Amino acid sequence: MMYAKVIVDVAAARTDKAFDYLIPEELEEMVHPGMRVMVPFGPRSIQGFIWKVTDHTELSRVKPVKEVLDPTPVLTGEMLELGEWMAEETVCFLITAYQSMVPSAIRAKPKKIIRTNVEAAGLPEVLKPFFDGKDEAAWDDVVQTKEAASALKQMTGDGSMTVDYQLKDKTGKKMIRMVRIAGGNPEDEYSGTLGSKAVKQVQVMNWMSRHYGTKAVSVREVQDNLQVTFGVLQALIKKDFLLEESLESYRDPYENRIFTESQRPLLTNQQKEALEPVQNAMREQKYDPCLLHGVTGSGKTEVYLRAIEEVLKEEKEAIVLVPEISLTPQMVERFKARFGSEVAVLHSALSSGEKYDEWRKIHRGEVKVAVGARSAVFAPFRHLGLLIIDEEHEGSYKQEDHPRYHARQVALWRGRWHSCPVLMGSATPSLESYARASKNVYRLLEMPHRVNEAVMPEVEVMDMRKELKKGNRSAFSEQLLEKMQDRLEKKEQMVLFLNRRGYSTFVMCRSCGYTASCPHCEITLTYHHTGRQLKCHYCGYGEPLMQTCPDCHSEHIRFFGTGTQKVEEELTRLLPDAGIIRMDVDTTSRKGAHEKLLDSFRRGEADILLGTQMIAKGLDFPKITLVGVLAADTMLHLPDFRASERTFQLLTQVSGRAGRAELPGEVVVQTYTPEHYSIQHAKGHDYHSFAREEMAQRKRAGYPPYYYLTLITIAHEDAAKVMKTAARIADRLRKQLSPEAGVLGPTVSPIARIKDRYRYQCMIKYKNEPELIRILNDMNAEYQKEMAEENLTISIDMEPQMFM
Ligand code: ADP
Ligand code: ZN
Ligand code: ZN
Repeated sequence: MMYAKVIVDVAAARTDKAFDYLIPEELEEMVHPGMRVMVPFGPRSIQGFIWKVTDHTELSRVKPVKEVLDPTPVLTGEMLELGEWMAEETVCFLITAYQSMVPSAIRAKPKKIIRTNVEAAGLPEVLKPFFDGKDEAAWDDVVQTKEAASALKQMTGDGSMTVDYQLKDKTGKKMIRMVRIAGGNPEDEYSGTLGSKAVKQVQVMNWMSRHYGTKAVSVREVQDNLQVTFGVLQALIKKDFLLEESLESYRDPYENRIFTESQRPLLTNQQKEALEPVQNAMREQKYDPCLLHGVTGSGKTEVYLRAIEEVLKEEKEAIVLVPEISLTPQMVERFKARFGSEVAVLHSALSSGEKYDEWRKIHRGEVKVAVGARSAVFAPFRHLGLLIIDEEHEGSYKQEDHPRYHARQVALWRGRWHSCPVLMGSATPSLESYARASKNVYRLLEMPHRVNEAVMPEVEVMDMRKELKKGNRSAFSEQLLEKMQDRLEKKEQMVLFLNRRGYSTFVMCRSCGYTASCPHCEITLTYHHTGRQLKCHYCGYGEPLMQTCPDCHSEHIRFFGTGTQKVEEELTRLLPDAGIIRMDVDTTSRKGAHEKLLDSFRRGEADILLGTQMIAKGLDFPKITLVGVLAADTMLHLPDFRASERTFQLLTQVSGRAGRAELPGEVVVQTYTPEHYSIQHAKGHDYHSFAREEMAQRKRAGYPPYYYLTLITIAHEDAAKVMKTAARIADRLRKQLSPEAGVLGPTVSPIARIKDRYRYQCMIKYKNEPELIRILNDMNAEYQKEMAEENLTISIDMEPQMFM
């Protein structure tokens, strides 16, 4: 007897273990770990992943597996293990981890179709009845008996048959409609059999017989050649003269683009030096995490491309992770131009069918390179030779929903599994990675110069406090406005950057730049309208809103935040002749809008590109000679301990946009706190000094990379219940964790209420808590009933990137 240990599709603590099911004899040969099955569960039938196959069970009575859903495992052995690790590390259910690794298009119960690639005569006897004159059969019909299933296994094993999912049209594979002449013997002339009146039908049959014999031809081709309607073909299908078939075609979202093989540039010396250790690790098949710190324009992408060339030479595969926001067509083109059809692209803008197609190319080993955002880290390759994470500092690599994994952690795990290098690149590495590189946990590779000795752009910092004193209350300093007028006259382009995040309301003195921050946590206090209070979102400290600035006694103390739309209106007033393209969530919500706006700007159809952070990356326009950051402070004062780091990263990114080509570039940063070290070191293009100062700050306040954080958010409709539960959880953690760990809160979350549910949070700060995961899992289990029955949510975020 064979048994399957199945992880069922019920995300609850009670079911977060494998259940045993009997494998019916006829399915024995088909069943492998990593396949999905339907199994009886209580009164219902549910889906699950086979985790292991064994020959014994502890149970006296096991129910049989009802159905096998996948012809081949959707999860490899590696993925099964990776899921276990993820479930543990991110405190999520195993089923949640596994579900996140397969494309959504096949998460439902898919229908499977068997296609035979051999003539009917070559089929084994047991299979013949299923294919009766066709080259397709339904999987479900065939696998009813052990004999048929076993024959099928043999046929698929040697490639005589293929099995695939038949998805619903909308998201499924794109099928090409085909017809072929029915029966084995096409006639030369059909006017006799069809009657001479059916002129068109006869024409079709004669043409097909002459040109194709019994081979299939696409309906489109018949119609194009003979100018007949589909109705004519339909009539022939009805009369059994023609058979209708379909041929799957991959939908290729890039099919209408032309990729030219780019000239491979000669590597610069610093590129060669960076590449060498990566190539060595690849050759020696050694796990080797490398942090590539290269300034903007130093040619990091070229290093990635060369490293991948090496991977392909070794017949291995590579994954390239890129933040969603910089996964632009230009970015993709650089990879497609070099590696052509070896590349699959996984992009959130693809339909779920398109995503599935790309996934399947990887799964079948038809491509060798996967380029994509966060979830591409699960690309089901079997022979990885390299993983690349571009812009490794990006917060978006952390998934903000279950499972809360960080793609960098997953990439490192896979690198270890495959014994291959992991290349993490950035102009502004995260302090976590930089600290690890400094301690030789990662290998540090530096590229401090731009390609072709291009100079870094000049960064000017404008003190907006002085503007206010001069009586200028607009969003533009006088100097910035002058520079803009100058560019307009010269017909050069400019980018204006405005970071706006609606949720955060902080209070700032426009006369002196003062902002209120927590005396205990060194983060900005957030204004709460109810109660007119300033609150700390880490520890709960609060104070009443001041009327005048405590530093300079000015009355110009107010909330901060300006919308892109408001700025656009002002811009139109100040520079009536300028062409403006505005890019923000409102103007780019429609699919493809983002790219259209950028294309239009590239063609020179506007002078000014005004936008939020979505324009900070991936733009490489030769005619941009001015970049303006309108309000650097909005990001500097987010209630997040990474606010300074994010500001530095952002200013470095946007200034990296200027002066990439022959024309020299200039950057203007407007701020009320020009002396802040984030702004000063960004001005000096000095990552190392910034990192030194920020590390000291983190050490003082007890933040990563010196401490680890865990954020626990509790939500429920009833505010009192949330408060009470949060307090109980904080107490419990204080008792259970070691005295070295700190438990902050509970306190109201930065977004205090979402969809009528109140939110409170606690934060754990720790250095070494080996029992933490177990304690959190126990807590989860204890609240399971309340969570299931009373709609209480307790979410646990290990090493959070966001503090909403
Ligand atoms: P980064 O990703 O570090 O900002 P890129 O890889 O985008 O830099 O390179 C910046 C520019 O320099 C690109 O236009 C790229 O084509 C070009 N480039 C990169 N390497 C070389 C090289 N070795 N020789 C000439 N041009 C190069
Ligand atoms: Zn002041
Ligand atoms: Zn505080």
